[in-house]
Amino acid sequence: MKIHEYQAKDILRRYNIPVQAGLVATTPAEARTIAENFGKSVVVKAQVHAGGRGKAGGVKFSKTPEVAEQNAQNILGMNIKGSTVHKVLVTDAADIQKEFYLGIILDRASKTITVMGSSEGGVEIEEVAKVTPEKIIKVQADPFLGLSDYQARELAFGMGIDSAKVNGFVTITKELYRAYTENDAEILEINPLILTEQGAWLALDAKMVFEDNGMHVRHKASENLRDLGEEEPAEGEARKAGLSYVKLDGNIGCVVNGAGLAMATMDSLKLYGGEPANFLDIGGGAKSDKVAAAIRIILTDPNVKAILFNIFGGITRGDDVARGILAGLSEINTDVPIVIRLVGTNSEAGRKILEEANLKSAETLMEAAQEVVAVANERAKESK
Ligand code: GDP
Ligand code: MN
Repeated sequence: MKIHEYQAKDILRRYNIPVQAGLVATTPAEARTIAENFGKSVVVKAQVHAGGRGKAGGVKFSKTPEVAEQNAQNILGMNIKGSTVHKVLVTDAADIQKEFYLGIILDRASKTITVMGSSEGGVEIEEVAKVTPEKIIKVQADPFLGLSDYQARELAFGMGIDSAKVNGFVTITKELYRAYTENDAEILEINPLILTEQGAWLALDAKMVFEDNGMHVRHKASENLRDLGEEEPAEGEARKAGLSYVKLDGNIGCVVNGAGLAMATMDSLKLYGGEPANFLDIGGGAKSDKVAAAIRIILTDPNVKAILFNIFGGITRGDDVARGILAGLSEINTDVPIVIRLVGTNSEAGRKILEEANLKSAETLMEAAQEVVAVANERAKESK
């Protein structure tokens, strides 16, 4: 789950990482009032989950409250990489001496939490990685010991930080690491982390992504940081229905029980020249309410030309699954063709129920995948 800069900065504040004072405005008049109260230059910043706001014109230095109001007027409603700006952060403007990059990610290749720093701050780190990869310094935190002082110092020296400023940097880096681990973050990034003209450290921007699997139990309170306006509506609906769903770009909807089977299903579609429209795991069994929710969610995507069910009956019996599918389908009105592959416990009884209801069923995944790819292609041709 991504959150906004202003929310991430609130978290950084709790870890004593220096950030500018700032307030959120939803109207130009509010932005003006905030700027008046600051009584000095401010920066008006679009609050959207997309990066590169500066380049897109979503970050504006504002010398007077009038200018802040005008900038907010221009930025609110702006579209940045597909997200509409509904809020701006009005912050106390800082004088920059030097911009750095400091970020923490979970590096799946090394299976560690990796802390990265660079003297090339303010620029997107992907860009730095492409052009001057030697300017990115990385250290890997020990899973048990965490990030050590010497590692933070190693970053500082690699980034060319003035020796007088190293201790301050070490403190910030260690606190950032604590914020990362305590919140089960996936990404926590300060870009740029600056030294002000006055020589103080300051986090000018903040990006934070929570690990979704840590949210339900460990970070329930963080759930209210979610901005539904920034998410794929179908993904929100799926979350409410207890389904894990990720929208993709293809035209074959997939309903599968089990994440591994869902991946294998998508691979099979690809193998036969199809393109999955989604990843969807309906979890154990296939109760009618979940089936109905799954179909409804899949059909919100106008690209979908056919749907493939791939259900493995383990503890759940195949005939129960078949009845669940029928009950689910009866709640939905659609002419999108459906192919069902059902195996496992009582699968024969299940397939019989499906056949009686005139639903296409297949025994093997290969068969089902080929069938649904053919049907989807035919439909795609017809609609051209
Ligand atoms: P991003 O483009 O979405 O990453 O947004 P940032 O918050 O990182 O802002 C982009 C750039 O605007 C920064 O790299 C700075 O150069 C500049 N900027 C942001 N805030 C301030 C500020 O308070 N003072 C000054 N002088 N520049 C700022
Ligand atoms: Mn930035």
